Amino acid sequence: MLPLVALVGRPNVGKSTLFNVLTRSRDALVHDEPGVTRDRHYGICRLDESRPFVLCDTGGLSGEEEGLAGATARQARAAAEEADLVLFVTDGREGPSAVDEAILAWLRRSGRPFLLVVNKVDGIEPGAALAEFAGFGVEPSLPVAAAHRRGIDELLAAVLIRLPEDGDAEVLADEPDRVRVAFIGRPNVGKSTLVNRLLGEERMIASEVPGTTRDSIAVDLERDGRKYRLIDTAGLRRRARVEEAVEKFSAFKTLQAIESCQVAVVLLDASEGITEQDATVLGHVLEAGRALVLAVNKWDGRTSYEREQVQTMLERKLQFCEWAERVTISAKHGTGLRELFRAIHRAHASATREFGTAEVTRALEIAVQAFPPPNVRGHAPKLRFCHPGGSNPPTFVVHGSRLRTLPDSYRRYLENFFRKRFKLVGTPVRFVFKEGE
Ligand code: GDP
Ligand code: GDP
Repeated sequence: MLPLVALVGRPNVGKSTLFNVLTRSRDALVHDEPGVTRDRHYGICRLDESRPFVLCDTGGLSGEEEGLAGATARQARAAAEEADLVLFVTDGREGPSAVDEAILAWLRRSGRPFLLVVNKVDGIEPGAALAEFAGFGVEPSLPVAAAHRRGIDELLAAVLIRLPEDGDAEVLADEPDRVRVAFIGRPNVGKSTLVNRLLGEERMIASEVPGTTRDSIAVDLERDGRKYRLIDTAGLRRRARVEEAVEKFSAFKTLQAIESCQVAVVLLDASEGITEQDATVLGHVLEAGRALVLAVNKWDGRTSYEREQVQTMLERKLQFCEWAERVTISAKHGTGLRELFRAIHRAHASATREFGTAEVTRALEIAVQAFPPPNVRGHAPKLRFCHPGGSNPPTFVVHGSRLRTLPDSYRRYLENFFRKRFKLVGTPVRFVFKEGE
């Protein structure tokens, strides 16, 4: 599974700034959508697309402790102790402090590999800033200015050579015709009930996928003649999850599952609306560009009036992913599951559909004819042609000029136009705009 890198340091040294720089989404539009929540503690760094890793901002450590006191500190410690690599962040302007030294001592005791990041070297001499920390004796030490994105490439390189290779991705994808599905959602929405029901019904043909490392678990399943692989299924590790220490890493596990799947099924609890945690889970799915099916669980025992109320509320709150199909189910009674799997199939088919250059350029022409991009200071952006740029999610590369002035509303228009024309459901759609040619 994906390696875990933890940011550790005292407050105000720039950890969250660095977290944002490293986890910045490819799809900036995602975060402007009302209703999506960005996780401030866990994110995936994809600056090197071929080697993503999970980044955890552990929050500030006060350093007062022999034992790091307080809930935040305990979490920070737990995250750091699970991490494949710790980035110990310090402030290059202020130089080393007693708190830094306490954290250093603790890191040494923890035995985790770590490197030193000396931040805020903008406007000061990086070499001199590093020299101040020479007494720490940490190799390597890297100067950065997170707020100005300086030193980030060097930092990334230093991180990547210290991370284990993620061999599981290939293992999990070894059967291309199996649709990889992850059932995710906040605690108590009904994930394990659902998975146990699925496996109970299909016990004869469900089997664990051998060869995966750590605690990644996958199970193969056949339904209605189609093959699925359930990824990192929460229900399968129910017993281990009782412990609180494990529970707080559910964000990490959710990220892993999203990364490994093709279709994310996000479970929602019909009786609880969309909570902050739901919005965060959805944010992760959108950021990863995964196909998405919304499963509204606990649909049993509700009057038709209540059901209508819930549907209206969901419609309003889920506008940012209105392209996703919404299926109402009862994991407990096993209703709605056939429809759920049909939606999974449709989302997967849309997400992995192959396109030809001629059909997408034609679509672009028709879209532009129907509604040309607006003039900006007397000049209109020109959209010349389009070619496919990959699948899962479907990506379209548009070439033209003055593309920077293309308003977001126009980007959304194109997205909706392509969705309709190619009947894409249940998958995000990406556009990449290339200036020139
Ligand atoms: P955290 O508490 O460690 O997460 O620190 P923050 O990321 O919230 O940053 C604390 C302060 O340092 C903020 O005012 C940032 O704008 C500032 N800061 C972060 N990175 C840099 C940097 O590279 N250079 C400078 N000059 N300031 C920075
Ligand atoms: P998880 O934490 O997401 O794995 O959630 P669980 O599967 O443990 O379910 C949490 C609680 O919700 C349990 O008490 C389940 O019995 C209950 N539950 C799950 N699915 C349903 C459902 O479809 N209807 C009703 N009424 N309760 C459900």
